Amino acid sequence: MSAQANFFDQVTQYFTEAAKFTTYPEGLLEQIRVCNSVYRFDFPLRRTGGKIEVIRAWRVQHSHHKTPVKGGIRCSPDLYEEEVMALAALMTYKCAIVDVPFGGAKGGIKIEPKDYTAEELERITRRYAHELAKKNFLGPGIDVPAPDYGTGEREMAWIADTYAALNPGQLDALGCVTGKPVTQGGVRGRKEATGRGLYFAVREACNEANQMKGLGLSTGLDGKRIIVQGLGNVGYHAAKFCREGGGILIAIAEREGAITNPNGLNEEEVFQHRKATGSILNFPGSTNIADSAAALELECDILIPAALEGVFTAENAPRIQAKIILEGANGPTTPEADPIFRQKGILVIPDIYGNAGGVTVSYFEWLKNLSHVRFGRLEKRHEMANEMAVLKLIEKTTGKTFTEAERTAFAHGPDEQDLVNSGLEETMITAFHDLLRTQRDHPGIPDLRIAAFVNAIHKVARSYAEMGIFP
Ligand code: NAD
Repeated sequence: MSAQANFFDQVTQYFTEAAKFTTYPEGLLEQIRVCNSVYRFDFPLRRTGGKIEVIRAWRVQHSHHKTPVKGGIRCSPDLYEEEVMALAALMTYKCAIVDVPFGGAKGGIKIEPKDYTAEELERITRRYAHELAKKNFLGPGIDVPAPDYGTGEREMAWIADTYAALNPGQLDALGCVTGKPVTQGGVRGRKEATGRGLYFAVREACNEANQMKGLGLSTGLDGKRIIVQGLGNVGYHAAKFCREGGGILIAIAEREGAITNPNGLNEEEVFQHRKATGSILNFPGSTNIADSAAALELECDILIPAALEGVFTAENAPRIQAKIILEGANGPTTPEADPIFRQKGILVIPDIYGNAGGVTVSYFEWLKNLSHVRFGRLEKRHEMANEMAVLKLIEKTTGKTFTEAERTAFAHGPDEQDLVNSGLEETMITAFHDLLRTQRDHPGIPDLRIAAFVNAIHKVARSYAEMGIFP
């Protein structure tokens, strides 16, 4: 069985380990752990040349303790049921950890998007949305998908449009999916949110002087050497924000191989090079590494897996030299690799906390769709006027005159992007300190992942208690 084949079992293993630090009855833990609904379906696609192909797809709703349920849609040729179930379960725990009021879900279509034209992908996505709507598996108060591996803003726009067409006049229709383009009801900052959230998470960890001392590292992100696997949405943005925050991107690994440069790479330049040549290899000034996975074993301070699950196993974990692993992907570390990382003293910032920035900002997008108003629209001018008044008062009392640049920097009033980023930052910082507190309060908890699962179990259990299902 491949690492992916038992992904749901792996999540269950983490859950079971964490459950030992709680005192809930077995039946309640079982209810929290299982997937509430698993919907698998097939539909036909007439390809451009006329051939009929059967497309297999899923939507899994892991937990109805809160509704709507929420989670991305993955397109991958290797996709199968337990993978979608695992990802849906992780969504439940993730939402609980960052206090986003959704149950977890996940969807998937078993295709390699690169093998289809844009027109075919549109037909597949619209049909997928239609099938979900038919079974009441889609809607702003029911189930709200988002992008994941192999999908992005374009697919989310197709889903929103399909749902709106099926529900004419439904005022909140756009809230049926998040990760949409801004022009189609999206929110500024969603596309980069997962990467930005990862940056906030690792920055917070690096600011913990004691933790850093234990790892033999200086406090702060400045000068830390970073390797990223996967230059897609999550990897690109995590690399960008960590580099802008003072880190040095020394290697990037993609499907076709890896490149390294100890003096630092720029993710945008590498992205443009890949777009132009079809590969990250032969990027000017860098050294090629033919075996992409070997790049993860290079010496570095922060290693960011941001491609797929099952990357770290008992086989390669002993060779990992990073001090910190920042999990951008879902499930990159198998339960066999985790104890090896603990023993090596590697700090793992787990997926269910680290990559929760995406769902956090998706929540903001959903709120925007339901309120039908752009964040900041009502208060921006008002706040700007207040800030201007403060500046004038300072000028009057001190005799100092601010330059125009200083005025604009201070008194601009928050716009949507400012508010979204600030809400995300607050969420990631608060959740990080919750994890540290849980670890401190339970000396037996071995790492942040188990602390995160413990926090998630408590929050979901509390929900059931509030419903009267559990005293
Ligand atoms: P994406 O499709 O935008 O990018 C994935 C990248 O990984 C691609 O560039 C792909 O070529 C690369 N890749 C695939 N196999 C690889 C390999 N063996 N080695 C190196 N690179 C490889 O996907 P994404 O949205 O960035 O998602 C990546 C991961 O992050 C997934 O595990 C996903 O579940 C998780 N995630 C995504 C979001 C989100 O908001 N998109 C949120 C939370 C978690």
